[in-house]
Amino acid sequence: MIGAQDGVEAVALGLGVQRLDVAVDVAQCGGAGAEGDHRARAGHVPVGLDVDGDVQLARHGVEGAIPSPDADPAEGVHQLAGRPPHAIDVYLLGDVLVDAGTPSARRRILRQLTGRDVRTHVVTHAHPDHFGSSQAVCEALGLPLWTGEVDAEALETGRPVPAAGRVPALLARMKMPPGHPVARRLREGDEVGPGFVVLDAPGHSPSHIALWRQSDRTLVCGDVFFNVPSLRPPPPPLTFDPARNRESMRRLAARRPALALFGHGPPLRDPERMLRMTD
Ligand SMILES: [Zn+2]
Repeated sequence: MIGAQDGVEAVALGLGVQRLDVAVDVAQCGGAGAEGDHRARAGHVPVGLDVDGDVQLARHGVEGAIPSPDADPAEGVHQLAGRPPHAIDVYLLGDVLVDAGTPSARRRILRQLTGRDVRTHVVTHAHPDHFGSSQAVCEALGLPLWTGEVDAEALETGRPVPAAGRVPALLARMKMPPGHPVARRLREGDEVGPGFVVLDAPGHSPSHIALWRQSDRTLVCGDVFFNVPSLRPPPPPLTFDPARNRESMRRLAARRPALALFGHGPPLRDPERMLRMTD
């Protein structure tokens, strides 16, 4: 058992046994200008990691999420159904698969890609809940793997760069998903999918990327923001450099996305709310 620290309250610690459950105190995630918003929504986001490197957000963390997206949120943008819905999101932008959930999502992802033209797999950042099934999907479909420059090494080795502190160090000792060779290291401005370009958005991981389409102001922001259980910064204990992530939040919100798609949480069509959070 470990005490509350670094914004994390560990409710059970069973490294190497069965499962590690931590409740991330989202009240600790607030920043200047967003205090009131955060106080109103203070609570815990439970995060569980099992011994297979699987990461899950508990079901009650996504209240209000629709069970299965039956309409594409934007032209050429398809959201795969997850379990529970919107706990960990996977998208298809044209023929580009964006993120690949945990290792246990492999069959669910492949099943939903059946009959679809998929050419490339992009990972927004090298965390195990985003590249968990990347190796399996790339091998099954013969896809090249693309990601941001610095995260490429972590993706190839299957060793994410941890945040500072004791809890992140413990998390880093969990079994991780397998790595996979990265065919292309993406940079700001690179074109991906139907009209999207890469935006550097570091902080949550060293070279986290977002994808932006100017024509309809659609943003795929990965974990720069969380939208579970409501809009907020990602939990600091899971974030490599929270201050840098704050800068990335400001930068992305300044584009006033008409539609924001997250790594965790349902789509958001409220650019002013994103801006307010980053004041
Ligand atoms: Zn994530």
